[in-house]
This record gives sequence, structure tokens and C-alpha cells, in this order.
Amino acid sequence: MDIQYIKGIGEKRAGLFHKLGLFAVSDLVTFYPRAYEDRTKLLPIAELVPGEAACFRAIVSSPVTGSRIRQGLELYKTKVFDETGEIRLTFFNAPYTVNALRQGGEYVFYGKPDDAGQIVNPVFEREEGNATGRILPVYRATAGLSQGTLRSAARQALAKTEPKEVLPDDLRQRYTLCHASFALENIHYPQNAELLAVARRRLVFEELLLLQLGLAARRVGRAAGPSFAPVDMAPFYKALPFTLTDAQKQAIADIQKDFSAGSCSRLIQGDVGSGKTAVAAAAAYIAFRNGFQAALMAPTEILAEQHMRSLGKLFAPLGLTVGLVTGRKKKEIAGVADGGVHLAVGTHALLSETVTFHNLGLVVTDEQHRFGVEQRKKLARDTQAHKLVMSATPIPRTLAQILYGDLDVTLMRGLPPGRTPVKTYVVGEQTRPRIEAFVRKTVAEGGQVYIVCPVIDESESGAASAEEFYEKAVRVTYKDLRVGLLHGKTKNRDSVMRSFAEGGLNILVATTVIEVGVDVPNATLMVVENAERFGLSQLHQLRGRVGRGSRESHCVLFRQSESAKERLSVMKRESDGFAIAEEDLRLRGPGDFFGSRQHGLPEFKIANLSEDLSVLQDSREAASALIRDDPALARPEHAALRAAVDALIARL
Ligand code: ADP
Ligand code: MG
Repeated sequence: MDIQYIKGIGEKRAGLFHKLGLFAVSDLVTFYPRAYEDRTKLLPIAELVPGEAACFRAIVSSPVTGSRIRQGLELYKTKVFDETGEIRLTFFNAPYTVNALRQGGEYVFYGKPDDAGQIVNPVFEREEGNATGRILPVYRATAGLSQGTLRSAARQALAKTEPKEVLPDDLRQRYTLCHASFALENIHYPQNAELLAVARRRLVFEELLLLQLGLAARRVGRAAGPSFAPVDMAPFYKALPFTLTDAQKQAIADIQKDFSAGSCSRLIQGDVGSGKTAVAAAAAYIAFRNGFQAALMAPTEILAEQHMRSLGKLFAPLGLTVGLVTGRKKKEIAGVADGGVHLAVGTHALLSETVTFHNLGLVVTDEQHRFGVEQRKKLARDTQAHKLVMSATPIPRTLAQILYGDLDVTLMRGLPPGRTPVKTYVVGEQTRPRIEAFVRKTVAEGGQVYIVCPVIDESESGAASAEEFYEKAVRVTYKDLRVGLLHGKTKNRDSVMRSFAEGGLNILVATTVIEVGVDVPNATLMVVENAERFGLSQLHQLRGRVGRGSRESHCVLFRQSESAKERLSVMKRESDGFAIAEEDLRLRGPGDFFGSRQHGLPEFKIANLSEDLSVLQDSREAASALIRDDPALARPEHAALRAAVDALIARL
């Protein structure tokens, strides 16, 4: 049923609804409110609290007066009172208030008092109308669509649709979940806060359950790769310049098990510097000894070249040929096609149509969160080969299993021995002279320094910019030193990075482009400007660029605001990426952590993984039980559920 069946939505308005992704009447039903206005309680004016939206009944004490502040800005002011007190109201560009709020009239207001003791733009209605005494939904809106219109549309949509119950009765009973129709009614127009919570839990459960069933189905449906026989790893281990850590050995054992079973789709999650490359190399070696080619895909050319160098050296004595395929380097394509290249290292250029493999048996994706959704889709289409995904984005295991639900997960905790944690300091502007002296000292002792800025140039808000810091460093601060600049718009990025890696530069001023793993063991100091602009996990990732050699390394976080002190101090205490990620999640909420950019899943309509962990656990348990008892969801009582899962898979 087209959305235009709703009263009040004509052709023109329909366009606005389309902007919100709403096309059918049923879309409105699952367009869940983003917030609520609680108008169930009327407070006396004396009990209003700054910053807390509330509802109150009051009498207008003076006529509304309007004044023009400047072109396009008119203020309308009045005062209202009840038996407990008086409060000022201010409206922006609201000439209608002059007639709508009459002196001596009694109205019910809803709004949020500010610190100055006034309420800006409260909503109001005469006496107790429709809205008073209820919890009202607040929807994501767009210019030209008022909450009133959205509310009325949702109301009508609820009346026009008969919600289908997809959750089987016994499951609803076991987990005390309310019926779909009750949940939908109460998510839009809750009778009270308790019923809202009941409704929400049910809908979150459903959303997470469907997602898990969908991912599980995809996992079952994934094609098997070639079956690899166990190989003698001794030559490989002998060629390695170090002994593997227990975590690395475990990861390799997991992969070997997958290989023997003929199906490997595994996520290797390990902190920056935990040694994931060696694990990937072991997997490539197994493929090689089984007569198959492997591909290792990195998100940047610089990183691909680094892998090329280190793996080329490692594999040379083992008879395994490594070739580089990037946007620029395509010479090796012939070798890839005829099988002369055993391990193709490259960027997403490896995915292009011009590259054909002789017999590809394994695809390893490094730093996979850096790849775009489209590239990942391309990767997923290639089902002939085993898949290994390596990521340093440390996310709690339960969440990893959701986000990468169609992958098995290996967690590599800890770092190879002999690493000293990077000493970290959080400093303010007054410490700058000392830090500059420290930079000089580091360089004088033969070390190298990164200076990381949050933005490229001044055009992007007031944050510290790489261009600006570079200019200043070259002209003033470090004019006797060799300073380079590297950011997303730098033309000769690779040569700058190479020059730094080879020691040709003392200082590299950069943006987060350096976040992804290039190894410069000689870099022992990292200075981050405007550190509060970064998430903790990102700072951790950045910090991983130093502390890669034997010398002690330092990380200095400049903060511009006092308020960031507590958050940043987590970096002083913690060196474990997982602990930092959990802290980040707690302090900042899931925001960009679970933005679709990161994981490529559709955004949640209602679930919030950082808040809904207990529902997540319940739904996980329920999903496992369902998969065990009725893997294809073929039983009649699961028909509706099956249809919902199929619809989700189609969307995925
Ligand atoms: P990441 O997991 O971040 O990709 P790398 O694979 O780049 O980490 O490894 C980081 C550094 O640690 C490299 O210089 C690598 O040679 C070294 N390394 C890896 N494994 C070990 C080990 N078991 N013992 C000592 N050093 C190791
Ligand atoms: Mg790496």
C-alpha cells in the first residue's frame, strides 16, 4: 500500500517521506521513534529542572512581544506563571505566538528550561488537549515534515496494517516477549514507560534474532574451498626470524583445522603489532604446498609494498614466489595468470577483471575495516577460495560474532615478547616548549618522529591541520630538520612514506593515513595534536606506529580542552587494544564503532548493541536453539520467521 493512502500525504508530501526512506504504509510502522516526549506528568513551575524537558500547566502573564534582532531573526517573548512560580518563554521566528498565546489564558507547555531560567521554543496547547498526559513519539524528520505530520501518519499506518507475528509462540513465552501488534502500538504510542520498555525489548530481540539467523544461513550457504592436506611446517618455521607466540600458533591451528575441513572463512582479530602477518604467511604457505595460489590484499599501496618486501624475503628460500599487483604495478599479472606467482600481494587492484588467477585457493584481506563495502562485496562473490580476514579493530567478542556473524573468529590476545609499552602522556598547550625540545632530542639520538593532526587543512573547522603544522615546522619550529608531509591529498604519498621509512626524513607530519600498518622501527615518538578529536581506539591504532623497534617509545597527546583529560588518560593506563575499545564504547557509545561504514551490515532500526547486550545474549541463545532444532526453518510454525529471514538475506 503506497504511502499516499495515508490521509494528509499527497504527491508533494510523499516526496518528503521518500527522503526518509518511507514508501509504503508498512514502512511507517517500522519507522521507530528516535526519542520520546514524556508528557505524562505535569510539574509545578518551581520543580522544573534546567536541561530536563517537562510538561507544565501555566497562565500567560504578559502579552507576547516580538522584536527583530537582525535579518531573518525575530524573537518573541512572554512570561507564564502558576501558583509556584514564573518562567520566561522565548520563541524564534514565531509570529503566530502573538495570537496563539493570549494574556490570562491557560495552556499546557512542554519544553526544556535552559541554564538562564528560560524555555526556548516550547510546544504548547490550550488546556489539556490531545498530547497532554501521553508519551509522544519523536521521529527522525526532514525539512518540511513536522512531527505533527509524522505522528499522524504513524498513527494511521498502525490502524491500517495488521502486524504479522514472526516469532513462534513458544519462543515468545520462553523469553517473555510481547506480541508484535502490542509492541508496534507501544513503540509509537506507549501507554507508559514500562510498556515502552516491554515493546522495545521485543523489537530489539526480533531484530537481533533475524540478523543472526540470516548470518547463520549465509554461513551454511557459503561455498567450501579446496580441501588442503596438512603440510610439514618445519621449513616455514625455520625461515621465520622469530619463534611464534602461543596466540599465533593457536590462530594457525584454527586455520589448519578449517583447511582440513575444506572450508575456511575466518576473522583473525589481533591488536596492532600482534603479528597477524606471520599467521597470514603460514596460511599462504599451506596453500602453496597444496599446489594453490594465495592472494593477500592490503588497503593501501604502501602497505602492500611493505608486505611484498617482508614476505618476499621470508619466502625466497622456500621456493614460494611473491608478486605485487597494485594500481600502478601490473607487470606481475601474467605470472598470476600462469601460476608463476604463488602469492599475489596487492591492493584492491587484485579484484579487477584484468587479474585472473591460475588456481586461487586462499584470499587474505588485511585491515579489512579499511575496505569499502563495495570491495568487500566483490570479495565475497569470489567463493572458490578460502577466506581469511585480518583486523586490528578490537571489538568485544560477542559483538564480533554479530558483526562478522558469517565468519569464525580467532582472537589473538597479547603481543610478541620483548615489547615495552609505549609511554604515553596527555599534555596541554603550556607543555609545548618541553615537547618540542623532546622532539629535537629524539632526532638528535637518531630516532624519528610522527606528528599527527586530525585534519588536512584549515578549511575543515578549527582543528589542528597537517598543512599548518607542516608549514610551521619547516619555517620555524624544526627548520634545521628534515620534515615531510603526508595526508590523503598528498600526490606522492608513497615516495614520502618510503623516504620516512628509509630514514630520509626526521619528522613526518601526517593525518590518520598513517594509521594502517607501515613498519618504521626507528620511529620512537608520536605527537598527536588535538587528540580529543580522535576516538580512543583510533589513538591506540595510531600509537601502534611507534614502539616497533627495540628502543623505548613515547606518545604525546596534546589536548585543547580540559574536559578530554579523563577520556585521554585511559591511553596512559591501558596498552591493550581490547580494554581500550571497551572503554571507548562505554565513554562514547557505539556511534562510529557500529556505523555501517565499519562493518557493512545494514544499520539497526532499533537495536543498540552497547545497551542491548542482555537482549543480544538472549537472542543469540534463541538463534542457536532454532538453528539446532530446525536448521532450514522448515516447520510450519517457523514459516513466518523463515520469510522474514529470507527478506533480510535479500537485503544483506
Ligand atoms: P600486525 O598484527 O599489526 O599486522 P605485524 O604482523 O606487522 O603485526 O607484526 C608486527 C611486528 O612484530 C613485525 O615487525 C613482526 O616481524 C614482529 N613479530 C611478529 N611475530 C613475532 C614473534 N612471534 N616474535 C617476535 N616478533 C614478532
Ligand atoms: Mg598488519
